[in-house]
Amino acid sequence: MKVKVISVLDDNYMYLIIEEETKEAFAVDASVAKKLIEIVRKEGANLKAVLTTHHHLDHCRGNPDLTQRFPDLHIYGADDRIGGLTHKLVHNQELKFGGINVRCLFTPCHTSGHMSFFVWEDGCADAPALFSGDTLFVGGCGRFFEGTAEQMYKNLTETLGTLPSDTKIFCGHEYTVRNLKFALKVEPDNERVKEKLAWAKARDEDDIPTVPSSLEEEFHYNPFMRLKEEAVQKFTGKMDPVEVMRVLRKEKDNFKKKEQLPIPAILAFQLSLLSESRPAKK
Ligand SMILES: [Zn+2]
Repeated sequence: MKVKVISVLDDNYMYLIIEEETKEAFAVDASVAKKLIEIVRKEGANLKAVLTTHHHLDHCRGNPDLTQRFPDLHIYGADDRIGGLTHKLVHNQELKFGGINVRCLFTPCHTSGHMSFFVWEDGCADAPALFSGDTLFVGGCGRFFEGTAEQMYKNLTETLGTLPSDTKIFCGHEYTVRNLKFALKVEPDNERVKEKLAWAKARDEDDIPTVPSSLEEEFHYNPFMRLKEEAVQKFTGKMDPVEVMRVLRKEKDNFKKKEQLPIPAILAFQLSLLSESRPAKK
């Protein structure tokens, strides 16, 4: 299978997954319809469905336009607030597109209806892929807008953390550099964090995506996947992994605020324009 990584808006990722033999395809998080249609056409793909991770507009605002352009299109998701939704998903539901299989993994917390998608191809030796939306990021996790530390703990340790370790992680945003800066604050002596941060900064300068990572890699540098590590426990002052998660997320929320200030006036103006049509950023 072919995964097209499509950068949209200022830091979102939209994905097009194509079964190379039949050209059957589905998208994950169609935020910009026009751009997706362009790539579908260029690839000669037959777009069957859109899988939406959650209802925030920067992940689904292209859905209504796509339904107009492709009347038979299925729009999947687990939240009634998703624009254009035609098929509501439940945990562990499986979908099939040619030889490509999708298992839907319910990962509520960032929003109460967040779904992640585990994808693999029949008879293919390639590593499976996880489209994790705003639940698991490279080096971090999504904000707890509608959920709890208990839920994110379950998401990252059980639901997603037990997938095959070579699973490739394709997330919803390019937040890698800022996530790893925080990871370095949590674990100043973690060499894997330093290496990945240097790598991500270089990619960032060249405007190249940092996705995918792998689940195995995340366990080495993502503090939200390292709740039982001594250094992470020390940083949070907690032992219980759910408490470690809770404190980490709180620290990350504050870290982001501090890091973002001060915003130059012109940039603040542009951001205010953007935020009119978009939900609060994660
Ligand atoms: Zn979101």
